[in-house]
Amino acid sequence: MIDFFDRAIPDANLQGNKGANLVVMTGLDLPVPPGFVIPIAVFKEYQQTGQLPLAEIEAALKSLAKKTGKVFGKDPSPKEQALYVSVRSSAPVSMPGMMDTVLNLKDRAEIMAAIERIFSSWNNARAIEYRRLNNISPELGTAAVVQAMVFGNRNERSGTGVVFSRNPTTGEPGLFGEYLAKAQGEDIVSGQRTPSPVKLLQQDMPAIYAELEEKVEALEAHFREMQDIEFTVEDGRLFILQTRSGKRSGQAAIRIAVDLSKEGLISREEAILRVRPDDLKAVLYKRIESPEKYTPAARGLNAAPGAAFGRVVFHPIDAVAYAKKNEKVILVRIETSPDDIQGISAADGILTSRGGLTSHAAIVTRAMGKPCVCGCEALKIDLKKELFEVNGRVIRKGEIITVDGTTGAVYLQALPLVESEVTREFSEVLSWADEFREMGVWANADTPEMVVQALKFGAEGVGLCRTERQFNTPERLVLIREFIMAEDARARTEAIKNLEKLQKEDFAAIFAAMKGKPVIVRLLDLPLHEFLPREEETADPKVRQKIRDLEEVNPMLGHRGVRVGISYPEIYCMQIDSIVEARELTGANVGIMIPQVITVQELLIIKQYCRSLNVRFGVMIETVRACMRAGKLAQEADFFSFGTNDLTQATFSFSREDAEKKFLTTYLEKGILQDNPFAVIDVKGVGRLMQTAIEWGRKEKPDLNVGVCGEHAGEPRSIRFFHNIGVTYLSVSAFKIPVARLVAAQVEIEQAKK
Ligand code: ADP
Ligand code: MG
Ligand code: MG
Repeated sequence: MIDFFDRAIPDANLQGNKGANLVVMTGLDLPVPPGFVIPIAVFKEYQQTGQLPLAEIEAALKSLAKKTGKVFGKDPSPKEQALYVSVRSSAPVSMPGMMDTVLNLKDRAEIMAAIERIFSSWNNARAIEYRRLNNISPELGTAAVVQAMVFGNRNERSGTGVVFSRNPTTGEPGLFGEYLAKAQGEDIVSGQRTPSPVKLLQQDMPAIYAELEEKVEALEAHFREMQDIEFTVEDGRLFILQTRSGKRSGQAAIRIAVDLSKEGLISREEAILRVRPDDLKAVLYKRIESPEKYTPAARGLNAAPGAAFGRVVFHPIDAVAYAKKNEKVILVRIETSPDDIQGISAADGILTSRGGLTSHAAIVTRAMGKPCVCGCEALKIDLKKELFEVNGRVIRKGEIITVDGTTGAVYLQALPLVESEVTREFSEVLSWADEFREMGVWANADTPEMVVQALKFGAEGVGLCRTERQFNTPERLVLIREFIMAEDARARTEAIKNLEKLQKEDFAAIFAAMKGKPVIVRLLDLPLHEFLPREEETADPKVRQKIRDLEEVNPMLGHRGVRVGISYPEIYCMQIDSIVEARELTGANVGIMIPQVITVQELLIIKQYCRSLNVRFGVMIETVRACMRAGKLAQEADFFSFGTNDLTQATFSFSREDAEKKFLTTYLEKGILQDNPFAVIDVKGVGRLMQTAIEWGRKEKPDLNVGVCGEHAGEPRSIRFFHNIGVTYLSVSAFKIPVARLVAAQVEIEQAKK
């Protein structure tokens, strides 16, 4: 048994997180009720033998009684006081509310029973589900804490509360939390009673509030991290019962990391490492477009930011069922409990009528980055009839509502949502990240509007400007169809002149929008039949004939990319000419990229189409053969850019759509594959090809620039791998730029540490 006071060395692997932090707090001379930890080893022993080390526990209880000067397990004499204890779970990773805690125990038998109960709560259904969702190993086990009770429900000068050292929704510094007078802690956490803001404590007992502020600051300084603290006041005396790193919204995580660094508690590197890609995504979460136009039907607490609309359901199972059908869904509950986890994770947003900002619903959704409004007391929920009533209106299961977790507002209709704006701290931490990263972060952008968006998120260049979109307006489709329908080369050249003018304008607009930053344009990749109508849409027999001529058995592997450029030189010549002319007009820094290359011969032919000498030509490496011919290609190419989507399809012989629709789920469920290879780069197959291609390419051209422009370039694990094989730049869609900037810096900092 590990007594908090015995100069114990805190170690979460022995004592669990709660136990270790109680030891730390005792060491810091904070007011912690005395107690001891029953270490995880005892739990493991108990799991095997079903036996508790009774003698040792009794000895520890005896010395606890001695320390408190109270008597345990027998009726106190008039001069004595009875010792009450709590038995608390303490896992190495904090699992808020998942396991049991037993309070107010007064004799051996109760205790011993409580310890067994805490130990077996490790394997209760909600704890198992929580571990599964959070990737916590079931092997870890739990310790138990036995601690002298303090009573928040003793009298008017007593109470209990939960505070965060900073606001967990916004990150704003200063105490934030809740307090309930004349109550025990469980009353708050369970959402049974809605507490008041902790500021009220400042009015009621200013000295206690000041002491709390001071202790909280000491804890933050010690842990160098935002803390989530449980405290109890007994008859005008403050006790701290628990501290742990606080869960927080993405926005708060970013602000706290930046602020802690500015306050000198952590370095910039540390601040960058502490921001998770999901935190950045959360800032980019949706909000209601012009909320001032709508009147909320009710307001609750703004528990987790972001807005969502969806169909109302009242039971977690229904949330799961709706989500399976790809329906947006809002889970409405009186309060949530850990048993609702699956429903919460399936829902788009959560709404509860009871419970505060530290209730279960609030904590869980904030960590998930999911909009949540809680404690919306105007809602009269009838779970049996599956409806709620608010201000005389009745909303039944299946009707659509909108919740705004940023403001706490609830609307009884679907509202238009927009992406959110980035905060100052968001930009700040990313600008710090830019100082540490080596890999470039470029954008996939096809229009001037996309370019502007990409620059806003910090793109250094455009790494993939697709040209097919430019053909996809009605008047341009006409022109490209004229080209496709042309009878001979001369007619084709004629048709294409008109296209050239439009393309030149398009490129000039994109180059100008980039304001001097480089742009890499990819020549046409799509098969020509994509530009024709469907056969049933046209009566023209010539067009119908052409459609049949161009029809392919397997378009993904068909007449597309550079193959079209070889068969119809006019298209690529036209594109190259317009790129070069637009470059001349704008003075832009431009590269041209050729898709679907398999051999250097293709590159040599396309280069000859170009009348200008100083144009940089790169190849997309997205066929297996291109990887195998990387050395030869590098002799002639100015740069490589991996198209990892096509390369993955080619390596697996999976077409993405079919795979994801038909069998990939089964493969993942059976553990045949660990991840969807279209989401996370397949290191062992596709990754090996990439690594080989880079090695062979650099043998020929040591300073060869190598980019990745597939979707993987915005996925954190893939980014780490790309860094390790020497990729020089990532090119991603605008909204993934922040993640790429962050992770590219994190991998650099992590490796410098080693
Ligand atoms: P959890 O792991 O779910 O946070 P805890 O072990 O922290 O569970 O217990 C829940 C609540 O029980 C605490 O917030 C606290 O208010 C109350 N509690 C636990 N131990 C004591 C104690 N020794 N004295 C007073 N209250 C206690
Ligand atoms: Mg607790
Ligand atoms: Mg491709």
